[in-house]
Parts: sequence; structure tokens; C-alpha cells
Amino acid sequence: MNTLKERILQDGCCLEGGVLKVDSFINHQIDASLMMEIAKEFAKRFEDTKIDKVITIEASGIAPAIMVASLLGVPMLFAKKKVPSTMNGILKSEVFSFTKSRSYNICISGEFLKKDEKCLFIDDFLANGNAALGMLDLATQAGAEIVGMGFIIEKAFQSGGKLLRDKGIHVESLAIIESLENCKIKFK
Ligand code: 5GP
Repeated sequence: MNTLKERILQDGCCLEGGVLKVDSFINHQIDASLMMEIAKEFAKRFEDTKIDKVITIEASGIAPAIMVASLLGVPMLFAKKKVPSTMNGILKSEVFSFTKSRSYNICISGEFLKKDEKCLFIDDFLANGNAALGMLDLATQAGAEIVGMGFIIEKAFQSGGKLLRDKGIHVESLAIIESLENCKIKFK
């Protein structure tokens, strides 16, 4: 997706350890019209797939996921990172955070993820695939099916893309970064 790639080159910056900072348009301040273009592209790439629900993880996945859900006319469910005391039938999974270098739990209420529901997982970044595997675990616990995964940015120099595709998951990434070496953003 060229507009996204151009924006990453213009406003993205590299941090230590292979981290790309895109706080000015994706992760903190959000460019709503670019995000809508991103959502339309996801909707197009998954147009042949039957989807009952869009799922994501708070916080950065929510903006793209809700726009995709709106375009598809289905609900959006986000996994929470803190277990609320009011939640019924909690399903939990542990995820290792690449950016924070520690593990945390993600949880959803079993009320909202049902057996045989077909889910599209949307997230901002794909790095080593741990967040995606956590969502896959939650879906498996619920008896739901992940029919596709869409990432705004995939870092191809990390292992997540291969891991998910080797599992036979339909993965779509809108900007694939081959390398961030010497703080230069190189696309695949
Ligand atoms: P993974 O679970 O695939 O290893 O990492 C994906 C998650 O870590 C994303 O949801 C995102 O929040 C965060 N993340 C991974 N790499 C980056 C990065 O380069 N930049 C930013 N801003 N977040 C990242």
C-alpha cells in the first residue's frame, strides 16, 4: 500500500533493537483518513473470506479493527490487558511483549467469542507473532476460528510472518519492512 509506505518513510523513525516508531499517525496520534484507507485495503484483501467478527488487542489494534468491522458490518471485539472484576467466563492467554520485553495476560469474555465464529484478527505490527499466537490461543479456547490476520506493518526480519504462514494462516500485511539496519527503513 503505497500511501502507507510513503508515510512511514516520511514520519516513521527507527529506535534501538529493530523498533519502528510511528506515533505521529498510528500509535499515539492517529491519522483517521489514512486509517480508513488502511481499513478499506484490509476489507478488500479479505473480501472472499466469510467473517463474523473482527478481533484485536488493546490499545493500538482498536482503531484499525473498528474501521474494518464497520466496513464489513460485523462487531469488533478487543482483548483486554487487565482482567476486569466484572468480566464473566474469562478466557486468558499469556503473551510476551517484544517492545516491553516482559509477559502480560490478554483476556476476553467467553460471552463474546463463540464456538465456530469466524474471526479476522487485525493489529498494528507483526514482529515475532506472540500477540497473534495469544489471540489464536483465545480463539481456540472459545472454539472460534481465525480465518485471517491483517497487520498494518510487518517486520519481515522477525519471525512472526513465517511462523503464522507456516501454520496455514492467511496473513496480509500492508507494509512489509525488510530491514531497519543503520536506521534506514527498507521495504520488501
Ligand atoms: P509480536 O507479538 O508480533 O512480537 O509484536 C507485535 C506487537 O508488539 C504489536 O501489537 C505492537 O504493539 C508491538 N510492536 C512490535 N514491534 C513494534 C515496532 O517496531 N513498533 C511499534 N510501535 N510496536 C511494535
